[in-house]
Amino acid sequence: MNYIFPPPDPTTIPVIGNAAVFPVHRIYCVGRNYAAHAIEMGHDPDQEPPFFFQKNPDNILLEGQDFPYPAMTKDVHHEVELAVALGSGGNNITVEKALECVFGYAVSLDMTRRDLQGQMKQLGRPWEIGKAFEHAAPCSKIMPAKEIGHPEHGAIWLTINGERRQEGDLNQMIWKIPQMLSHLSQLFTLRAGDIILTGTPSGVGPVRRGDRLHGHVERVGDLEVAIV
Ligand code: MN
Repeated sequence: MNYIFPPPDPTTIPVIGNAAVFPVHRIYCVGRNYAAHAIEMGHDPDQEPPFFFQKNPDNILLEGQDFPYPAMTKDVHHEVELAVALGSGGNNITVEKALECVFGYAVSLDMTRRDLQGQMKQLGRPWEIGKAFEHAAPCSKIMPAKEIGHPEHGAIWLTINGERRQEGDLNQMIWKIPQMLSHLSQLFTLRAGDIILTGTPSGVGPVRRGDRLHGHVERVGDLEVAIV
């Protein structure tokens, strides 16, 4: 194949216990999937079904890399989330078969330019400038499902400089992972390499240069990121 210019290397994520890396295809994110976070954002969790948005695959920031405070914003927020990494995909996947598509899990951060997202919400415009910017998806190494199974409950939390800011349990998700994947597979063709961020518990808030973020999901792992 002759390219006009060399294609970029694929975005990849290390896998625990495996020398091979996970090549990223797409990143889907579910909004307002924990009731307490929906309420803190001013929404009624009973009246709104969760919805999806996307980040770009190359927005991934790997463990050990710093998060540069982005341009055009004064209000960048952290959202700690369980990430689901797919090893296969398809369309119209049933709830019963959905977990068979999951390769593993990771700890991720849905970094958000909240001020820009808020402006776009007010104007009824898309959220990309608030959500899909450079380094907006820090992600830990992937823990294979064959090591830990498929977590339905377990602590998820985030600290900044050692102080607890976000805290919840995976069992508080409004849409469970099988339902989420089944629904997504009706809207999009899911593929091996897709990453799904499953929503954040309450306690989101701003980050500042010099902060050290530590996200944790029970059994899945830890992710530490410095804001620079
Ligand atoms: Mn989020």
